[in-house]
Amino acid sequence: TLRSSWSSSSSNAVDLTNPFANTPKANATFVILCRERDIQGILESIQLLESTFNDRPHHRYPYVFLNDDPFSDTFKLRISRAISSTVEFGQVPPEHWDIPPSIDLVKAQKAWDRAKKAGMPYGDSKSYRQMCRFQSGFFFRHPLVLKYKYYWRIEPNVKFFCDLTDFDPFRFMQQNKKVYGFVLALHDIPGTIRTLWIYVRQWYEKNSHLLAPNNMFGFVTNDNGRGYNKCHYWSNFEIADMDFYRSEAYLSFFNHLDQAGGFFYERWGDAPVHSIAASLLLDRSQVHYFDNMGYLHAPIMHCPKPPKANALSPHTGRSRCYCAHEASFTFDDNRQSCMYNYYDVNGWNSTAAREELRN
Ligand code: GDP
Ligand code: MN
Repeated sequence: TLRSSWSSSSSNAVDLTNPFANTPKANATFVILCRERDIQGILESIQLLESTFNDRPHHRYPYVFLNDDPFSDTFKLRISRAISSTVEFGQVPPEHWDIPPSIDLVKAQKAWDRAKKAGMPYGDSKSYRQMCRFQSGFFFRHPLVLKYKYYWRIEPNVKFFCDLTDFDPFRFMQQNKKVYGFVLALHDIPGTIRTLWIYVRQWYEKNSHLLAPNNMFGFVTNDNGRGYNKCHYWSNFEIADMDFYRSEAYLSFFNHLDQAGGFFYERWGDAPVHSIAASLLLDRSQVHYFDNMGYLHAPIMHCPKPPKANALSPHTGRSRCYCAHEASFTFDDNRQSCMYNYYDVNGWNSTAAREELRN
């Protein structure tokens, strides 16, 4: 009957058979930088993260919460009640957060006033710039984070659309020796990074011995290094091997940019910094596009294309993904995606990729 063709024959209960019986868990954590007032957005993100992934007994990865202020006991209690695993709360040390003494605050304030007048998002925000610098150069050295190799960055008010009972991005990274994982790639706002490439180029010209031979330079430049094409992985979602950020090469790159002062005189984001570093320092095979993961950070989302999303989960008997792939940002020509660029660099023909990924 029509009805039976529309209803699932399997039980609606989640079948928690461990698909990873022979695969060890990764040494991994979620890292959430936030303020107390982000509690509502954080609980929303966590509910989806838990119910699509982490509450499966074979996952249950720990959390680290970081804040430049101390967290209250109330906040800690609400978070610990919301998760199926364990959590630690840490304060960012002032030397990882405060504006370094080398920064000329008068010059910085003038730049912020100009940026605000020009209508740049977070144009005159000091704390946003401190956050971007922290996420670029320090989160991976926080004492609570140091013991972990892999991390997954979680922000307030994000959504996860796909069931991950039998896909573990951490185990995937570990098994496939991946170092940097993303779901969304787009163009940055030019005004925030006007001089970034000048310093990037200074650094790589002096340190060519540190570049990966088969890297993804072409993801970030269209003219062999004359300029930055503004492509970056959207780092509000990021799954990475933090040993990369702790490496001598990355730290040298970060320090060079930090000394240039652009985190404060402009508004360099951690997304372009991470992305350019990954494109210079990693082998192509170490960068992974998690196209099977559905994700929203307003106003942009990624939803896997139908063949992947349509396969019913053997664990739930339902669709894996609760999102409409047509709404996915990735292959929308009008909205500044960098995925064609990504595929080009990896030897895909853009037109073919376009056809393939639309269908
Ligand atoms: P957007 O996604 O670029 O619009 O910026 P968000 O406001 O989402 O900030 C990025 C991340 O940094 C989020 O996880 C925020 O919770 C966090 N964040 C931003 N500013 C601060 C800050 O001043 N203090 C703390 N503790 N977290 C911050
Ligand atoms: Mn955000």
